[in-house]
Amino acid sequence: MNVKRHEGHAHTANLNYGYAVFVLSLLALGVLAIRNVFRPRLRVPAWVWSGIGIVLLVLVCALHAPDSLNGVAKRLGRVTYALFPAVLLLALRPSPLPSTYYIDLIFVHKWVSRTAVVVGVLHGVLYFSHFVRKGEVGTKLFGKFVNLLGVIILALMLIMAITSLRPLRNRSYKLFYGLHYPLAWLCVVLTIFHARPGVSFLAFWCVFILLGQIFYRIFTSRRVSLTVEPLSDTLYLVSMPRRAFPDYFTVGAHVRISRDPLWSPLTWVKPTHPYTIASLAEEGDIKLVVRSIRRLTSGSYTVLGPFASDTANGPLTGRQVMVVAGGSGISYAAPLVKRLSLQSTPARLIWTVRDKADIAALEHLDVSSHVDVYVTGADSKGIDEFEIGDEEEDEGLEFQELLTTEGLHHGRPDYNYIAKTFFDDHDSAGNWVVACGPRAMVNDVKSWAKKRGINFSGEEYAL
Ligand SMILES: Cc1cc2nc3c(=O)[nH]c(=O)nc-3n(C[C@H](O)[C@H](O)[C@H](O)COP(=O)(O)OP(=O)(O)OC[C@H]3O[C@@H](n4cnc5c(N)ncnc54)[C@H](O)[C@@H]3O)c2cc1C
Repeated sequence: MNVKRHEGHAHTANLNYGYAVFVLSLLALGVLAIRNVFRPRLRVPAWVWSGIGIVLLVLVCALHAPDSLNGVAKRLGRVTYALFPAVLLLALRPSPLPSTYYIDLIFVHKWVSRTAVVVGVLHGVLYFSHFVRKGEVGTKLFGKFVNLLGVIILALMLIMAITSLRPLRNRSYKLFYGLHYPLAWLCVVLTIFHARPGVSFLAFWCVFILLGQIFYRIFTSRRVSLTVEPLSDTLYLVSMPRRAFPDYFTVGAHVRISRDPLWSPLTWVKPTHPYTIASLAEEGDIKLVVRSIRRLTSGSYTVLGPFASDTANGPLTGRQVMVVAGGSGISYAAPLVKRLSLQSTPARLIWTVRDKADIAALEHLDVSSHVDVYVTGADSKGIDEFEIGDEEEDEGLEFQELLTTEGLHHGRPDYNYIAKTFFDDHDSAGNWVVACGPRAMVNDVKSWAKKRGINFSGEEYAL
């Protein structure tokens, strides 16, 4: 009898393993959402969740493993694609998961994607070995278009994975971002033609999620006229009309801004930039504080959001809150201390800047509580050294006036000293430390707070 090569059980045996991974990944997201809604006191560390995930994935790959090399390779290919819907869901902005800040999911998105790439590479290596063994590399791998597509998809996945590594991403965020979405689309679509048996169910969900993101952006973006005022060489105050925003947004919420209008194809491959709203919802206009080495100009921009941040929730219920901001991190710190002051929670704002000209932002942001500004840049020494008749004296006094008391210092803040003089009760469970701004500073403050057993919350101005 003439039996077709792919006919029968062996051909479809792996389908259910793909569906199992799809269901398990959705269940994992469900658990994550439940954890975010109920916020249990006992937190299971990330490495435990990762361990459980990896064990389950290995089980699905190894359970009743086919005894042929290409059988195992097929299963791994299906498992790779079955992870795609979860990978895409984790990258949605905002996250559809309840009580979940999409920024927190980027870490999970990265690691699930990397897992998919590793399984995909294994799929490729095993298939390659199979073709080498059979002497069919030329005829079956490179000679057959549907198989060659697999090589192309794997190459695209590797490009995405490599350009998303932090050193490369930081070097060229534009390249990373510009490649990321188009390549994700290509991987999703090309696999539809590459995979046998078909992957229509999984592909449907991938396309649904990707299109959902596009429609969300189209329906919620608007062109807004931005007024830009330079505060120093690299710091800008950006004002937007209040009517362009909903009545309410949370403290620490951010918008995403891009120059191009939505109809421009460029807007879909260029990154949008997240900027924290430096105003409270009840204030008259919306302000941003933007650090940029490129000159910013007033004009029409595409604005998306606000996206709620949950990082202020804990501190807003605190008894005493010490807020440490670095550079443009003042955009997060200012509305937070204003809200704390409105609800009569004692707060202390410590702001570190490189350039003392940045201090002008305080006046515009209407921060009236006590602020300690630490100038760490090359011109910081001048603060103690103004002499009568010195050209810089007036400038120095002007800055001093912006601060309520003697709050201008040079050098780095001594957190131990500040905490000692600020917190009444050093063991209080109601004490909070918040850090916002550059990643290195947020991490420093985090480890300091952890050592002292103080509640910590941070907003990093980096992805
Ligand atoms: C939640 C959040 C809130 C933020 N709020 C503010 C704020 O209020 N004020 C402020 O000045 N900055 C804020 N940032 C940082 C700011 O969005 C980035 O620094 C900015 O997008 C860099 O733009 P650029 O064109 O100067 O970057 P580039 O010159 O292209 O890159 C400089 C650095 O910025 C990072 N970067 C570039 N584009 C992005 C992007 N789209 N998203 C995240 N990082 C990026 C790159 O990794 C690189 O290290 C915030 C970031 C986040 C994640």
